[in-house]
Amino acid sequence: MIPRGEHGISRKQFSPNAIKVLYRLKDGGYDAYLVGGCIRDILLGQQPKDFDVVTNATPDQVKKLFRNCRLIGRRFRLAHIVFGREIIEVATMRGHHEAQEDKNQISQSSNEGQLLRDNVFGSIEEDAERRDFSINALYYSINDFSIHDYANGLAAIKAKQIELIGDPETRYREDPVRMLRAVRFATKLDMSIAPNSEKPITALASLLDNIPPARLFEEVLKLFLNGKAEANFLMLRQYGLFKSLFPELDKILDKNPSSLETAFIQQMFQNTDKRINADKKVTPAFVFAALLWFPLLERTKKIQNQEQLSEYDAFAQAMNKVLSDNSQHIAVPKRFTLGARDIWHIQHRLDKRAGQRAYRLTQQPRFKAAYDFLLLRVDAGETQHNELAQWWTQYLSQDINGQKEMVKNLGHQGGPKPRKRPRRRNTKKPTE
Ligand code: ATP
Ligand code: MG
Repeated sequence: MIPRGEHGISRKQFSPNAIKVLYRLKDGGYDAYLVGGCIRDILLGQQPKDFDVVTNATPDQVKKLFRNCRLIGRRFRLAHIVFGREIIEVATMRGHHEAQEDKNQISQSSNEGQLLRDNVFGSIEEDAERRDFSINALYYSINDFSIHDYANGLAAIKAKQIELIGDPETRYREDPVRMLRAVRFATKLDMSIAPNSEKPITALASLLDNIPPARLFEEVLKLFLNGKAEANFLMLRQYGLFKSLFPELDKILDKNPSSLETAFIQQMFQNTDKRINADKKVTPAFVFAALLWFPLLERTKKIQNQEQLSEYDAFAQAMNKVLSDNSQHIAVPKRFTLGARDIWHIQHRLDKRAGQRAYRLTQQPRFKAAYDFLLLRVDAGETQHNELAQWWTQYLSQDINGQKEMVKNLGHQGGPKPRKRPRRRNTKKPTE
């Protein structure tokens, strides 16, 4: 226990709402601590993303104390205290599940050792042991403003090590997502994964197959939209975790590490990081369109060969197949898969610019993303589209007259002129 005054953390560094929650719990007669990422990040001089509270009050007792409280979750029952846009998450301390096996089904695990339900409450010491990494098991007490360090988290912060609490293999089996979290924290905090915690990862990577697809989607977003996507991608590949997330792409990248495909994915993540770090938006539709692009092209070829379809029909079929296979383990919400489809479709239409086509294309909601996608392809080495990309860049910088001029100058390059629809003769006899 590190007393107030010896740890350099003050209440001012916490969100006022989190402090309010702590005091309300304390005044209600309960123990309350700030825990996890917020303490870790402040000690590392980073801005915490959110503030998590842990208490010995049960979720129902928490609910009684707060009007603005919602209870959520099944695997973990949690209370959310809502202050406008800020949510303070209040968890009840967890205990060991073995002790109460199967009693009222509050704890449950699968054959692989994965915890399916985990609502056994316990003491703060037990709660600390149930957390994932030692750096995430630091508690700030509102009673005496001390820090409780049950798992040598402070030492791990000093040594810059991501280190699982307990036996690494058991802890990964309990919750395979911890492997992804280890990678995410290592890159975010500029640390390395401790040798013991690193060792079992590759062998256990395939356990990610057992994670509900909705949860994996959330984790993938955290990995790729947090400004460290490139570093996360490289580390996921290094530990064999990327294979469990994007098996087809992983195989393609393995075939030739210095290929256009590798350059494309790496460039995409670099661009994503740049945008995120400049506070610009990145749509998951773009990221998934890119991650599934080469599997899509490979499938298209295969289908075309097997079924003698036109390239366009094969492409459309391959799109469905690639998206439905992906959704088996990563549940990408429909609005993003629709976005990815649009981006892919437009790739096929970008060279057809004659007549009104170029203009109409720019009016599509996903046009800008699709244009960025083309630039990415060219950057990664598809030099055959260089001229097309330059044409579009110039087109977008012109006013309407300049644009018309550019289309006129295209001649045959703009694809066949759209055929004028023959006027339909009115064959019906006029009725009276
Ligand atoms: P950040 O919010 O910056 O991503 P965090 O450490 O706060 O990092 P959360 O996902 O918000 O991460 O979780 C809060 C805390 O809950 C963690 O610090 C950790 O102590 C605990 N925790 C979260 N997920 C797990 C898990 N899968 N297994 C064990 N403990 C976990
Ligand atoms: Mg957090």
